[in-house]
Amino acid sequence: MLITNGKIITWEEPNQILDGQAIRIAGDKIAEIGSQNQLISENPELDQIDAQGQYVMPGNICAHTHFYGAFARGMAIPGPAPKDFPEILEKLWWPLDKSLNMGDVRASAEVMLVDAIKHGTTTLIDHHASPNAIDGSLDEIADAVHASGLRSVLCYEVTDRDGKDKAQAGIKENVRFLNRLSSGDLQGDRVAGTFGLHASLTLSDETLEACRAVVPSGEGFHIHVAEHEADEYDSLEKSGMRVVDRLAKHQILGSKTIVAHVVHIDIEEAQALAESGTWVTHQPRSNMNNGVGAAPIEGLLRAGIKVGIGTDGFSHTMWDEWKAAYLLHKVWHRDPRRFSGLDAVQLGVYNNAALASKFFTNAALGRLSPGAYADLIFVDYHPHTPLTDGNLPWQIIFGFNESMVTTTIVAGEILMRDRKLHTLDEEAIASNARERAPEVWARYNTFVPN
Ligand SMILES: [Zn+2]
Repeated sequence: MLITNGKIITWEEPNQILDGQAIRIAGDKIAEIGSQNQLISENPELDQIDAQGQYVMPGNICAHTHFYGAFARGMAIPGPAPKDFPEILEKLWWPLDKSLNMGDVRASAEVMLVDAIKHGTTTLIDHHASPNAIDGSLDEIADAVHASGLRSVLCYEVTDRDGKDKAQAGIKENVRFLNRLSSGDLQGDRVAGTFGLHASLTLSDETLEACRAVVPSGEGFHIHVAEHEADEYDSLEKSGMRVVDRLAKHQILGSKTIVAHVVHIDIEEAQALAESGTWVTHQPRSNMNNGVGAAPIEGLLRAGIKVGIGTDGFSHTMWDEWKAAYLLHKVWHRDPRRFSGLDAVQLGVYNNAALASKFFTNAALGRLSPGAYADLIFVDYHPHTPLTDGNLPWQIIFGFNESMVTTTIVAGEILMRDRKLHTLDEEAIASNARERAPEVWARYNTFVPN
C-alpha cells in the first residue's frame, strides 16, 4: 500500500514534517518513506491511498484507560452528589463495575474501541474491573480488541474490596491471560497484557504478596497510586509506609510497571519511582473531574521519571487530554509559563510511545519511519498560519481536534477511511449498548449504597 499526497508528521526525534513524499507500507510495517514520484513509479502495482493534502501522522497512544466505564455516561447517581473521590468510588465506580455481566464487558469495550478508532487513538493501555464477571473477561475484551484491529494492553484489577475469593479470581485471571499471551495462542500481536492491581487502599499485604508470588517473570504491574490522599493515609495506617514505599516493599515497582495519577506522593516517593524506572501516567481531565488535585508533572519529569498521559476512560481524544494538561498546570500555578506545548509532546508522543513499546516489541510505535509499525492517522487540518516543526505542539493544542481524524490505520490495516469504519459497526454497537444500559443501571441501583 502507498500513502500519497499527505503532509507527513513523523514524530521522530527530532520531528520532521515532510512534503512531496509517500509512505510505502508492507505487511504491518512501514517499509519506506521517500519521494512520491519515485515510489509511485517503482511500485505501480500497489494500491494508493490518497491523503488529499491531509496531515499523516502516527496514531495516538493512551497510557491509561478503563474500557469498562462506558455505561457511566448519562447514569444518575442517587442521593446527594459524591463529595470527594472516595465517595465517587463507593457511589459510582464500585457499584457500576459490579453491575457488569460478560456481555456488558464486551459491549462497554466495543463502545470504547469505536470511540478510539474515530478519534485516532490506535494503542490503548486498559485497566479492567468486573467483579461479577472475572473469569475470561480479558479474553472477551481481547476478542473485541482483535475484531476492532486496534492495539491494546489488558489487565484485570485485583482488589480485596469484594472479598478473598474475588481477589483470588482476579489474580488467576491476570496469570491465565498472561500465560495465554506468552503461549502465542492469540492471533497476531496487537494484544498484550500486564498484571492489574486496583490501588493500595483496597489491597492487603497478603494479596500484594500473593500477586508478587505469581506474576510471570519479566512482567510488571498497572495500579492506581495516590489519586486521592485517602490512599496515602490508608497505607500509613495499614503499614506505617506511604503508598510508593509500600509498593516498593512488595516489589511492585519497576521498568514495566505503570502507576496512574500520583497526585499526592511526596518527594521521597518520587525518588523511588525514578530509581526503579517505574512509569507514571497523568490523567488531567479525570483529576479535574474528581476534584483530586494535580500531579507535579514538570517536577516528576525533572526528577527523571517517565510520565505518559492517558484518558482514564474519558473519550479517547488524546489532544483533548494534552489541552487539559496544558491549561490545568497554568491555572494551578497561576503561571502561564507552566506545562508548555513541548511538555505535552514529551508525554503524549515520546513517552507514551516508549511505554507502549515495552509491550509491543517487534517494531517501533508512535513514529513514522521505516521499520516502524504502520499505525497512522489522517488529520484534515487546514492551518491559517504556517505550520512548522517549531510551532506544531501549539498548532495541535489550539487547532487540532479529534473530529478532524478521517482515516485510522493500524498495522497496515484500514480501520476507518474517510470517517467510515471498516472493522466495527458503530450503529450496531451503540444500539446494543443502549439496549443493555437500562439493565446495567437497574443492577447498579441494587448495589449503590444509600
Ligand atoms: Zn484509572
